[in-house]
Amino acid sequence: MKKKVNFIALSIFVMLLTNSCELKNKNHFMEGETISNVNIVNELDPVCEMPTSNNLNDTLNYQGKLYGFCSSHCKEEFKRNPWKYMSK
Ligand SMILES: [Zn+2]
Repeated sequence: MKKKVNFIALSIFVMLLTNSCELKNKNHFMEGETISNVNIVNELDPVCEMPTSNNLNDTLNYQGKLYGFCSSHCKEEFKRNPWKYMSK
């Protein structure tokens, strides 16, 4: 009987832990929602060349300038090889 109670307490604990992680992610950037009111220097996503005006989902401060990206995937790609995209 006591074992069962422990199991339930553990399940609730795990549930709470999972929920708080989800909340943290939601506070970061909502999936599918674009960012507005930021002054980015690039009109096109340097990685995939999509217009950032209506596909802005992530930004990166690089060498004192704020660059916009359509997704965090493109941002990560840019961070890996910034020189490759800056020369364009
Ligand atoms: Zn992109």
